[in-house]
Amino acid sequence: MNTNNKFLLICAGLISASAGNLRGSSFTAPSSFCSDTGCWPDIHTWQQLNTTVGGKLEGDLASPIYACISPPDQQGQCSEQWANVHSSPFWAQVWGAGGSNSVGYNKGWNAVPTKFAVVCHSAEDIQAAIKFAVEHNIRPVIKGAGHDYLGRSSGPEDGFALTIYTFWMKDMSFDDEMNPELMTVGAGVIWEDAYRFALDHGRMVIGGGCPSVGAAGGWAMGGGMSDVLGKMVGHGVDNMMSAKVVLANGTLVTASKEENPRLYWALRGGGGGTFGVLTELTWKTHDAEPWKKHNSMMLEFNAKCTSADDFATFMKSLWSWYGSVSQRNYGGTVKVSKDDDGSISISGDPITSFNMTQQEHTKQYTKLTDWIISDANPCQQNVEYTLMNDTLLDSRPNGARAAYPSEWIALTQDIPSYSNTSALEQQFGKEGTDFLLSKWYGTTNQDEVFTFWSAYNSRFVNASEFADPETLAAKFKQLAMTPGAETFTISLGKAEAVWEDGQVKTIGATVDEVSTHPAIRDSGLFLNGFMRSGMTDYSPMIPVDETQDLAFLKDYLHRAATKESACPAAGQQHAAAATAKCSTEALVDLAAAKACNEVIQQCFDALHELEFVVMDKLADLWPGMGAYPNEASYFQKDWRTEFWGGNYAKLEKIKKEVDPANLFQCHHCVGSEE
Ligand SMILES: Cc1cc2nc3c(=O)[nH]c(=O)nc-3n(C[C@H](O)[C@H](O)[C@H](O)COP(=O)(O)OP(=O)(O)OC[C@H]3O[C@@H](n4cnc5c(N)ncnc54)[C@H](O)[C@@H]3O)c2cc1C
Repeated sequence: MNTNNKFLLICAGLISASAGNLRGSSFTAPSSFCSDTGCWPDIHTWQQLNTTVGGKLEGDLASPIYACISPPDQQGQCSEQWANVHSSPFWAQVWGAGGSNSVGYNKGWNAVPTKFAVVCHSAEDIQAAIKFAVEHNIRPVIKGAGHDYLGRSSGPEDGFALTIYTFWMKDMSFDDEMNPELMTVGAGVIWEDAYRFALDHGRMVIGGGCPSVGAAGGWAMGGGMSDVLGKMVGHGVDNMMSAKVVLANGTLVTASKEENPRLYWALRGGGGGTFGVLTELTWKTHDAEPWKKHNSMMLEFNAKCTSADDFATFMKSLWSWYGSVSQRNYGGTVKVSKDDDGSISISGDPITSFNMTQQEHTKQYTKLTDWIISDANPCQQNVEYTLMNDTLLDSRPNGARAAYPSEWIALTQDIPSYSNTSALEQQFGKEGTDFLLSKWYGTTNQDEVFTFWSAYNSRFVNASEFADPETLAAKFKQLAMTPGAETFTISLGKAEAVWEDGQVKTIGATVDEVSTHPAIRDSGLFLNGFMRSGMTDYSPMIPVDETQDLAFLKDYLHRAATKESACPAAGQQHAAAATAKCSTEALVDLAAAKACNEVIQQCFDALHELEFVVMDKLADLWPGMGAYPNEASYFQKDWRTEFWGGNYAKLEKIKKEVDPANLFQCHHCVGSEE
């Protein structure tokens, strides 16, 4: 069936079916956008758009949980979908323009497909979609890889919007003879593709840790950073050389230092989804050599502290050590998690280092590992460490795993088949399939696929704090004692500065050159996460009523309330209620399912409260340092200041210059929500 026919078929039942029974996203389209059938264009008008874009208009977009939110589910598809949600890293994209990596955020947003999408393959497609949106007063939603945590590429709750879907704009090139280090990627390229392409040319491109995040979308424009490759060459905004963008008035412009420099500045951190639709982006790449195996090393360690004071002692030594090494050469993460018995676990997850001889790596790491296993370390439970003569570039380029064997490359480009485990097994056998699916940076990212976020927070820490490890450690102790700060990641890599020769030194661009929060230029650490099991297999869009299959409800609610999830994280009282009402024995009928669902709602209420406790504590401990707009609470207080600091006013001005009618809007984006 060609796309054109698909459009005609699906449109037959469009107005009555589609997103009609979706409830969800709290982003309210401004009243100026059409949001009811009265003003919505008729089917013939949509057909004209479909003709204009050569059959690339799609309607009735599928959501990853479509079968679960549109009961009765005759074929058991809901249970099947639910069972497979974490099986493939590319789950979000299997669903095309309706897919998204997360299914929503507690009291914030729910993944809702828009009524239509233009599946763009060119700037002309984007221009046609924008023209149509303007002429018919329809809200455009820009979606690339669909990984936004804050639902900024998801539809409004009623679905009355048009997705401009850039995911299939996959061109990549190294074609500038004058500047052979420049690599241009289309708006739909994901990091997986970009790493492989760069590596094939002996180059390293700084990108995100998760291979299915877009390489020319929200990551780039929102201030994307690399956890694992450190900050030797800066991060996304430092290496973004130019971009092509379709503006709200339909013109395609280049943004670079030379052309449209104000727009270029805004794109270097001002956030996706708001200044226009980016069609391609040019990255500065780097010789891959410093990140190769013989120049790299990784340290994994574990230690468990039985008291907060012991934790502070550990942190003091960790920061003393880190303050003494050449921080430019380091990246990676340290994870902290509190256990039910009050103990605090710390792990190097791993710490990574580059561009030194193996002797230098070992010498520097040994200063830390000798202390970790010595009697001076009070956190002796589970103490262990492993030093690996390995690299993240050869085996996991930039955090994504190795380039695929050539015979499998085609497969990764055929994303729908990629998610079909049984089809893969037929072709590659069990072992081969496991290998293919294991090409994912880590279980954390894998678990994130399809998750419902109960809470999130982030904060940068100034690199100057390494001057006083004791005070920094005391702050971490306070943080760890804060209710709701159950588990968090400390990233050494996601930061733009180092502490060197007793000074804070920024790597990459200067503070004036980029539009991210100015404090990020001075940051030496980045913290994120916080809620134990911030992630849950749950969606408030799934009705708990007689239309549902009871066997599914039992499994789903039990899992959401007890296993990985919201209630244990919300506190003992909630965990006990969940055990009582959501055990498999308790879930005997629909009434019991409803009672359990109420408990789950209470758990989410409690987590929502705790989210603010953590947010306030972070702001107290590190005032003025800001949160990272791509990895922040949906409910970030003072978001303009916390995301962009003193740059917000200029960003807002530029937004008005390039989009005076405020066509492009999204949650906590520049110029939105005035
Ligand atoms: C599993 C996972 C791992 C992550 N790891 C990292 C990491 O290592 N480092 C890091 O810094 N961040 C990381 N992130 C956060 C990531 O940077 C954000 O989720 C980011 O918003 C994703 O961008 P996207 O283009 O993939 O997603 P989308 O949801 O498609 O887009 C995000 C935003 O950008 C806009 N946008 C997308 N494409 C375009 C375009 N062509 N033109 C204009 N606007 C556009 C959208 O409208 C939306 O507002 C991770 C996220 C996930 C889910």
